[in-house]
Amino acid sequence: MDAVPTLTTPEALAAAGLIDDTHATALRAVAARYAVAVPPALHHLIRATGRDGPLAKQFVPSALELITAPEERSDPIGDHTHAPLRGIVHRYPDRVLLLPTHACAVYCRFCFRREVVGPEGGTLSAADLDNALAYIAATPAIFEVILTGGDPLVLSPRRLGEIVARLDTIPHVQVIRVHTRVPIAAPERITAETVAALKRTTKAVYVGVHCNHAAELTAEVRAACARLADAGLALISQSVLLRGVNDSLEALETLMRALLAARIKPYYLHQLDLAPGTSHFRVPLDEGQALVKALRGRLSGLAQPTYILDIPGGAGKVPVATPWLGQDADGRTVVSDPSGREHIYPPPASAET
Ligand SMILES: *Cc1c(COP(=O)(O)O)cnc(C)c1O
Ligand code: SF4
Repeated sequence: MDAVPTLTTPEALAAAGLIDDTHATALRAVAARYAVAVPPALHHLIRATGRDGPLAKQFVPSALELITAPEERSDPIGDHTHAPLRGIVHRYPDRVLLLPTHACAVYCRFCFRREVVGPEGGTLSAADLDNALAYIAATPAIFEVILTGGDPLVLSPRRLGEIVARLDTIPHVQVIRVHTRVPIAAPERITAETVAALKRTTKAVYVGVHCNHAAELTAEVRAACARLADAGLALISQSVLLRGVNDSLEALETLMRALLAARIKPYYLHQLDLAPGTSHFRVPLDEGQALVKALRGRLSGLAQPTYILDIPGGAGKVPVATPWLGQDADGRTVVSDPSGREHIYPPPASAET
C-alpha cells in the first residue's frame, strides 16, 4: 500500500485541501523560515475540525507567522545560556534536558524552539551523544534526565532504546522523562518496539504528551497512549494556552477531562513563550489566570494543570495562577473560593494575643 505522505510544502498542503491554492504562494515565505510537516494522521482531523479550527491553527502555517513582535526573541527561554555542551541544557541542578534530535513528527506553528527545530537540525552525532552522556554520568546532582528536542520519539526504537539503556547504567539518574508529540502526530509510530525501547531500564520513566485540544485525542491516539500506560509508563501532559485553540473555559475543561480519561495526568499549562511570529497565539496572563481559577471550581483535583510561565531569558519556570490567599484591612488571612467569595481563615489560637 502506498503510504500517504507527510505534507511539508504549501503546495502539498493545497493539493491535500488543507489550504486554498491562492494562499500557497504567500505561505512559501513562512515555510522557508519555519519548518512545516503535517503527518498523515492529522490530515483528516484538520479537515474535520475546519480550516480555521483548533487543529489547523496549530499545524497549518499562516502568514501571521511573518509578523515578529518586538518582545519576541529567537531563544525565548535562554536554552543557549544553559548549554554546557551540544545536546545538553542544564538550568536546574537536579535535572537536565538531553536533546538527541531537532526533528519532530509535526511542526507546531507556535513552537518555542522554532528557530532550531526542523528536519535539517539533524540528530546528535555519536560523539556528541557520548559527550552528553559522559557529562550526565560525571554530574552526580543529576537525578532526572528529560529527553526532548525536537521529539525523541522520532528516533528509531533502536537508537531510542540505546539511549535509555545507557542512562540506565548511571546510578544517580533515577528518573527518565520523555517529552513527545508523536502519540498525537503519528500514533502508529508508538509500536511494541517503541514501548520496549522505553522499557530498557528499571528507572521510573515518565512520558510527557504535548496535547492542546481534546480533538487531538482520537481513538488511535488514545490507543497509542494506552500502549504506553499498559506497559507501566507514567503519562503526564503538557499543554500550551493558545488563542483560538483552547482559550476558553469549555475547551480547557474538555481537554483536561479527556487527558485524565486517557490516563494522562495533566501536568503543565504553559503560558506561550515569546518565540518569533507567535503573537497571534498569545493570551494575556490575566486572562490565563482567570481561566485557570475557574477550572478549579469545575474539575477534579487530578485534572488540574499548573499554569506555568517560563521567564523569558532563562530564569526558569514559575507557577503563575492567581493567588488564593490575601489579607484584609485588619491583616487577617482571606481565602477566596472558586466562585470568588472570600472567607476568613483563622490563625492558630497560640498566635492570637
Ligand atoms: C522546562 C525545563 C525543565 C523541566 O522543568 P520541570 O518544571 O521539572 O518540568 C528542565 N530543564 C530545563 C532547561 C527546562 O527548560
Ligand atoms: S513537537 Fe514540540 S519541539 Fe516539535 S514543533 Fe511542536 S512544540 Fe516544537
